Amino acid sequence: MTIERTLAIIKPDAVAKGVAGQILTRIENASFKVLAAKMLQLAPEQARSFYGVHRNRPFYQSLCAFMTQGPCIAMVLEGENAIQRWRDLMGATDFTKAAPGTIRKDFASSIEANAVHGSDSPASAVVEIAFFFSSLEICPR
Ligand code: ATP
Ligand code: MG
Repeated sequence: MTIERTLAIIKPDAVAKGVAGQILTRIENASFKVLAAKMLQLAPEQARSFYGVHRNRPFYQSLCAFMTQGPCIAMVLEGENAIQRWRDLMGATDFTKAAPGTIRKDFASSIEANAVHGSDSPASAVVEIAFFFSSLEICPR
């Protein structure tokens, strides 16, 4: 087992629906430590940069518009195998294929408005955490 950190985002659809608290409860119940958290609204160029890996996908423009439509909540989660465990808790990208009991199954509205984000590898976790948080904003304990 490895202690990892991952970048989690409660996306604008979930904040707008008022389910951020329920998602945070699931995070805490799954024994993640929340080392940092903040609400912010991404600017268009920030969304384009954050999801730059998808720049050639047909859904890129729509995804960036969705991610900037309202505030989101970015968090740093820490725990054993945090990267994969958080993705397991999120469920499949397409919520119609997500397993019962996952966050996306319960809170997503579409393949795009799918409630949460999670880093997909240790390398992207490092980059994504630094995108949102300075070292002073992370509270190890
Ligand atoms: P995320 O990176 O947000 O954690 P993911 O890793 O499960 O999600 P990716 O393939 O990285 O999925 O896609 C990034 C995001 O782009 C998805 O979470 C979703 O919001 C959006 N997206 C992915 N595929 C589609 C699609 N076919 N149509 C519309 N939006 C999509
Ligand atoms: Mg992804």
